[in-house]
Parts: sequence; C-alpha cells; structure tokens
Amino acid sequence: MKNKIVAGNWKMNKTFPEAEELLVAIAEGLDDMPLETDVVICPSFPYLEMAADVSEESNFSVGAQNVSDEKAGAFTGEISAAMIKSAGADFCIVGHSERRAYFKETDEVLAKKVKRLLEEDIIPIFCIGEQLAEREANQHFQIVEKQLTEGLFHLEAKDFERVVIAYEPIWAIGTGKTATPQQAQEMHAHIRAFIEKTYGAEIAYNTYILYGGSCNSKNALELFSCQDVDGGLIGGASLKVEDFIEIINAAETSIKND
Ligand code: PEP
Repeated sequence: MKNKIVAGNWKMNKTFPEAEELLVAIAEGLDDMPLETDVVICPSFPYLEMAADVSEESNFSVGAQNVSDEKAGAFTGEISAAMIKSAGADFCIVGHSERRAYFKETDEVLAKKVKRLLEEDIIPIFCIGEQLAEREANQHFQIVEKQLTEGLFHLEAKDFERVVIAYEPIWAIGTGKTATPQQAQEMHAHIRAFIEKTYGAEIAYNTYILYGGSCNSKNALELFSCQDVDGGLIGGASLKVEDFIEIINAAETSIKND
C-alpha cells in the first residue's frame, strides 16, 4: 500500500499577512490528524521561509512553484534551486502548464530545471498534460509520452525515483471541469505503463502520479480512489482551508479503503 501526496499550488496569490493566516490555519487544521498523506504547500517565493517555519510545528512540507535552470550568477530576477533549498523547501513544481504556455518553457529547459533541483536534493513535481484539442484529436497519450521522454527520461533510475509526476489535463485546470475518474485512471495507468518500459515495474509502481485539474472537496475521494492516482496537485481549492483539509481527509480515507 502506498501513501498519498496532496500538494497545494497557491500560484500568484496572497499577500504576506494573508499567506501567514492561511499557513497557520492549515497547520491548525492538520493538528491532531495522524497523517498517512504527505502534504506539501507551494506558496510564492517570498513566503517559502515563513511556510518552512510554520511547517516545523506541523506535518506538512514546503515546495516552490518554479526554479531557474541556471545554477547561480548574473540572472537578474531568477531564483536558484540552492536558494529554494536554503529557504526550507523540499519540493518544487516544474513545468506547470501555465509556465509552459505563458513563459514558453520547453521540455529541454524543464529537463535542466529537474537536474538543478535534484542536485539540491529537492523533489521535482513534474507536470504533464494535454490541451482539449489534443484530447479531442486522440493525441493525449502521445503528448504526455513526449513530455515524459523529453523532460525526464534522460535521468538515471536512481534520480528518476526521486521525481513526482502530476498529470494535469490543461482543459481541467482552473476551469471547474474535472477529468472523470475513468479518464484520470486511464491516463495514470498509461503513464505508469510507459514508465515501466524505461525504468521497469518496481520503479513504475513506486512512482507517485498525482492528478491535478479542478480537484476539490467533492470529487477528491472518487479521484484518489482510482488505483493509479497517488494523490493530487490542488490549485484553487488549496487556498481555502476547509476545502484543502477536506481534500486531505479524502486522501486519508482512500488510503484506509485501499
Ligand atoms: C493547478 O494549477 O495545478 C491546478 C490543478 O489548479 P486547479 O486545481 O485550480 O484546477
């Protein structure tokens, strides 16, 4: 039996005091919950250290939302993997569809980002997923295979084992239109089988494949109960403490029901 991971992607939301309030509320919500689920909070860069401080008294980990593909030096405005690590983060989202679309991040750049993170012992949460038109053209499997091959499959097995994958169909992100449990399970099983071809059955089984895209307190249990769904990457619903805690509860229930 595997635990689940529930990661909250706050995106570009919250001022400093609002972020503090939400972090403290999440910590209080998690109090007394004997968690089998690994909870990860990914706030904006300025709040990483505060999140790490709050996490010391709670049972969540901290993640960043992006990282530079460069190690250090004259790259004004960039944030390195070493900076993220020294602020207290152990995870980092890479290749979110918003970064791929708005900041033109390619799989080649993302492969470099993954390398930087692993050098600093940060777990990448590597996002993949297709657009609606690609699904309608029946290209969705091909798209994720390409993203995995170009973004991750250059890694040696010992490094690939440290990566978490998040399947996030772009048509489901922030739209309120969730993939059905059948669609999620079909894709997650496909991703696992594809990983198996390169890295073998044991690594494929052990790889965490999260679902993301309008996951909320109402649909989380059904999604997390799918055999190949190992948890969720949660956007909008991670900004509301009650919803986020309910999603974590859904993950706990799905582990117990397994
Ligand atoms: C996300 O941005 O990773 C995400 C899944 O967003 P939402 O839950 O709001 O669809």
